[in-house]
Amino acid sequence: MENIAHNLQQIRNEIRSICDRTGRNPSDIRLIAVSKTKPAVLVKEAFDAGQVDIGESYVQELVEKHDSELLSGLPLRWHFIGHLQTNKVKDIVGRVSLIHSIDKLKTAEELSKRASWKNVTADYLIEINTSGETTKFGLPPAELLSSAPDFITLPNIRLRGLMTIASPDRNKARQEFQVLAELLDKLRNISPDPALLTELSMGMSQDFDIAIEEGATMIRIGTAIFGSRQR
Ligand SMILES: *Cc1c(COP(=O)(O)O)cnc(C)c1O
Repeated sequence: MENIAHNLQQIRNEIRSICDRTGRNPSDIRLIAVSKTKPAVLVKEAFDAGQVDIGESYVQELVEKHDSELLSGLPLRWHFIGHLQTNKVKDIVGRVSLIHSIDKLKTAEELSKRASWKNVTADYLIEINTSGETTKFGLPPAELLSSAPDFITLPNIRLRGLMTIASPDRNKARQEFQVLAELLDKLRNISPDPALLTELSMGMSQDFDIAIEEGATMIRIGTAIFGSRQR
């Protein structure tokens, strides 16, 4: 049995000590608790322990938990972090505070259209495949700067930064986080509104310490909070 409140406290302590060591401010790092495959009752347990930002990877699961009787009245902020198919975009617009995983212009166009219909503004990140692994989703780093203007000019959506999933190898992970941070800098240089581009979503249970050292503003932690997953 996992003790979610204890695990959350442990991670918050770790974030604080990494920040002390690197001269960063802990309030500049948002902890996102990734509850994919875990039941709503555990999300409630995390909320009761002070956790507001919740990450989900599957659209159907996000919709079910978001709309559940147990959670729907709570001031949670939902983050969509999984691969997003164009035909599922409509289900999460209005339910999530941030989509981390847009990796195609087509998906961004659909998000823009759906957000316009609902008369809302949707915030999103572009996922970058910094490791180059073919099994991973994400825009290749070399394509970001040339395609960024097409993303940035879409109405009713706001690009807020970049996201990546790093290699399991910690040395490679550090290099990949550095690539993402450099890309965000370059993106700011060509953006008409650089002040919007604040977010680096990088770091998971195994590598969030490195990600914070390399500038992460959002870390996405599942296993270290909710325990291991079956799938
Ligand atoms: C599952 C998942 C996480 C959390 O991974 P853990 O190793 O369990 O911390 C973070 N980011 C994404 C995109 C995920 O799919």
